[in-house]
Amino acid sequence: MDFSDTIINWYHHHKRELPWRNSRNPYIIWLSEIILQQTRVNQGLPYFYRFVETYPSVRELANAPENDVLRLWQGLGYYSRARNMLKTAQMIMEKHQGIFPTEYDQLLQLKGIGSYTAAAISSFCVDEPHAVLDGNVFRVLSRFFGIDIPINSSTGKKIFSDTAYSLLNKEHAGLHNQAIMEFGALECKPQNPNCEQCPLSSQCVALKNELVKKLPVKTKKISVKKRYIYYFVVTNNNRLLINQRTDKDIWANMYDFPSVETEQPCNPEELLTNNPFNSLFNPAIEVTHYSNVYRHQLTHQSLFISFIHFHSPSNEFSPLAKQWQWCTEEEFNLLPKPKIIFEYLRVIHNLL
Ligand code: SF4
Repeated sequence: MDFSDTIINWYHHHKRELPWRNSRNPYIIWLSEIILQQTRVNQGLPYFYRFVETYPSVRELANAPENDVLRLWQGLGYYSRARNMLKTAQMIMEKHQGIFPTEYDQLLQLKGIGSYTAAAISSFCVDEPHAVLDGNVFRVLSRFFGIDIPINSSTGKKIFSDTAYSLLNKEHAGLHNQAIMEFGALECKPQNPNCEQCPLSSQCVALKNELVKKLPVKTKKISVKKRYIYYFVVTNNNRLLINQRTDKDIWANMYDFPSVETEQPCNPEELLTNNPFNSLFNPAIEVTHYSNVYRHQLTHQSLFISFIHFHSPSNEFSPLAKQWQWCTEEEFNLLPKPKIIFEYLRVIHNLL
């Protein structure tokens, strides 16, 4: 028996009965995959049932208010995934007449769908021959073939992707992909894999060479911190409210605008209704412009910066903010500023 036949045979006898198994409905597969990117199967199941019950099809989801979707998602974290789900559903209504695509290339055009999810949906639904590569598949392949190239290196990704594709059962791609993922989750587990009963054991390189505990290999990446900064560009009587930075952070002592920072990206409109904004500004002020999000890369930090403009009828500001001051644009031009602020000022010159 070849590799694919062996794991498919194993799958028929050992697979877990899960509500999205045996479904060829791309909406159902997509919901389960997005939820399972956030959590384990047991924790994800109640979320899956709630979503399917509340939004039985992509049409109901597309018409849902964002707050309702976020509430159903509550507890899974990384809320941009939930927002992306809503945007994807809306895009499917607009561009695909409400029919969820099943083709790999079309799926990749949708928000929040990458190569893994596109391969899963297209193969599970219509057997398009794309091999899935998730953590389970990397582990099975690296052990079975004894591949010690880091799975998170670009060479490693290419080798594993080619290997996965070469093993794929092209006629039954969906079954093969589900089988190898389930095999990795239940049999070739990260800790204490079930090698004694494993149907692949006679050919497994890692088992033969006592490398099971050493594979797969991952390189340690330098961790890059993500920061989300929302600047408030406040004008009053041709003057700008500016801020001098404190000296313990990036851009020490330079000048920028008042800002708030969040650990996750958030909707600027939500930001304006919550603290700390409300403790710093009068909530009645009128927003005149929302900028795009600018990405700014520092050595160990990725900054995602947005600017929210508003006009303040009063020139008074919160006593909490001692390092703020009013100045004209010309005066501000003379002060030291981070590059992103300097460049943004040039972009918005006409808005001031
Ligand atoms: S023998 Fe062990 S390490 Fe090798 S594929 Fe089977 S479970 Fe994984």
